This record gives sequence, structure tokens and C-alpha cells, in this order.
Amino acid sequence: MVIYTELGIRQVINAWGPMTIIGSALVRPEVVTAMAEAAAWHVDVIELQRAAGRRLAELIGVEGCYIAGGCAAGLAIATAAMMTDGDAAKVARLPETTGMRNEVVMQRSHRNPYDHAFTQVGGRIVEIGHAWQAFDWELADAIGPQTAAVVFVYSQRTMNLSLSLAETVAIAHAHNVPVIVDAAAEVPPAGNLRDLKTTGADVVVISGGKGLRGPQNSALVLCTEAMVEACIPHAAPLHSHGRSMKTTKEDMIGLVKAVEIYQGLDHDLITQRWQAEAASVVAAVAGIDGIDGAPGYAGYSDKIPVADLVIEPRVLGRDAADLAAALAAGDPSIRVAQDQQSLTINPQFLQTGEMDAVIARLLELLTA
Ligand SMILES: *Cc1c(COP(=O)(O)O)cnc(C)c1O
Repeated sequence: MVIYTELGIRQVINAWGPMTIIGSALVRPEVVTAMAEAAAWHVDVIELQRAAGRRLAELIGVEGCYIAGGCAAGLAIATAAMMTDGDAAKVARLPETTGMRNEVVMQRSHRNPYDHAFTQVGGRIVEIGHAWQAFDWELADAIGPQTAAVVFVYSQRTMNLSLSLAETVAIAHAHNVPVIVDAAAEVPPAGNLRDLKTTGADVVVISGGKGLRGPQNSALVLCTEAMVEACIPHAAPLHSHGRSMKTTKEDMIGLVKAVEIYQGLDHDLITQRWQAEAASVVAAVAGIDGIDGAPGYAGYSDKIPVADLVIEPRVLGRDAADLAAALAAGDPSIRVAQDQQSLTINPQFLQTGEMDAVIARLLELLTA
């Protein structure tokens, strides 16, 4: 593609996941077309925020939706809205939170690299529990007059640990404290668009640029209409602390289009295609000594079938890190998930024909 090759940039084949560092999911062509159309007019961006949000809320079946510039931005803005309670003077003071409720309670097992979303707006994280467990009484004890919100990270790594989302919502609400859910990568399943909100969680944030294949810097902040109004003062086009978290009119239109398309997809058929592609990788490496392929699920979602390849370095003569580096070093560069023992080949974001290219390169490296 000329636009990249002119800059000396290689193509990346994404057999990894919705990773921002490789451009996450490819934006659907129909979404790009809608964004180009949106670029041809000026509009009042706040009016569009309200109208596009209402359209998204209707499509999804929730009361309200604010559109943020990515899930991390949505988490930051929702937290800020809960700390400031609609008080314009407090909004203007952030991230200075003296005199405000500024504590965000979270299970230690939910801590992750996106936690800056809570602290960048002046929130202070109050941890409960230890690395893999927290108890209901710990949550109840941690909530106090300074608590602005309880955060629940709904990801494959955390959703099945103790203290479920339902228990978290029940305890927080018994103390009149709202719950913010980070569900950035948990679509698919399509049902999560609506179901996570029906747990009673006050705010559910889902990335627009992961499974939905909308603009990468967009996110659904599913909430109430009142919460949408509470979020608006916190980011561009206004001039508060969140000026740097800008969502453009093109992003907003693109996200509406992406959700419209996503809801019309045949999700079972897509899952079957992923399963078949993952199985083709397992079949291709069968019989190669030192590599043990098996079907599995992506680390971030048990709704995404993948191929797990366990590497035996003493037999194969190279370890998983070596092999991943060799895949990445080629042109096109092939990116896969990798841990100490294994590689994971993920079909979710592969384009037609790309799995064949991944398999061919893998076999070339393995037989070299
Ligand atoms: C990807 C991710 C985010 C950040 O989402 P962006 O839309 O890239 O801002 C936050 N939390 C979790 C769990 C994620 O997987």
C-alpha cells in the first residue's frame, strides 16, 4: 500500500489481538466511508455527542451513552464525573481533588496497566484483597465518605475471580456508591453490549476500536442520560482537564456506524470461521517435533477461538520468544501473542488469505 511503503513502513499481519501498538482492529470500510462523509460538514459537536449517544443507546437498549475517545478516556471521564457531581468549580479544579470524594475502590487482582485512567483525573486507588482474591466484607469496609466509585475490570483474567460483578454492584449500591465497569475488550459476545449494563452497573465502558471495529479512539460509555450530561463538561470540545481526550465528529459517526453493522452480523458464522482457521494452524503443525498445537481461546476473551502452540525448545532448537521475534522480523511482519512456553495464533483480526500467509511463514521458519 503506497501510503505506507512511501514512508518505508512494513505491513503488519495481526494474528495477535486488538493491540493499540499495531493499530488494533482494522476499521470497517463502511465505517471509514461514514467518517469521510462526516468530515464534509461542520456541526455542533456537543449536539452531535447527544444525538449520536441517543442513537447508540437506542441500538443497544440502554438509557444513555456518552462517546469517549477510547475506553481509557471513558474510564477517566466517568471517574471524574463521579468525583465532581456536576459542580463546575470542581470540574475546573481537576486533577486537584482536595475536598472532593476521590477514592476509587478496586480489587487488587483487577489492577492493570490502564489504571492511569483513574489516577490521571486525581482519583486515588484503594485496593482490596490480594493478588487473586477479595471478599465481600473487604469491599464493604473499604467504602467510606471519600469513595467516588467502585471499579470492576470485566476481562477474561478477572471476571471469574472471587467477588463477581453482581456481588460488587450489590455491595456498592447498598452503600450508595456507583460502579464503573471496564469491559474494553469483551465484545464479542455481542450480548455484552447490553447485558453488562443490566447487572445494575452504573457505567460500562467498551472500546469502539476492538471487537466493534469502529474508530480506534472511540468508546461506548453506557450509562444514564444524566450521566451523559455529567460527562460532557469533562472533555473536549470544552476546556477542562479532559481537553486532551478529544473525540471528533468523525469518530462519533464512525462508532454509530460500527455498532449498526456489528449488530447485523452473523456472530455464529464468524465464530465458526475463527474455529476453522485456528484448527488449520493446529493441523499444519501436527507432526512437527517440538511444537504441540491445540485449539484454545484468546487470553482476553473465551469467545475468540485461537491456536495455542506449545514450544519445546530443546527439541525445536528455539524457544517461543525466538519464534515470535522471527515472525515479527519478516515483511510483512507477523505479530502473535507469546508467553514463556507458547505462541498463540489469533484469527479475530486476520483479513481473507492472511491465515494462509501466517501458516506458510511459520512452516518456513520451523523447517529451516
Ligand atoms: C484495551 C483496554 C483498555 C483501553 O482501551 P482503549 O480503547 O484502547 O483506550 C482498557 N482496559 C482494558 C481491560 C483493555 O483491554
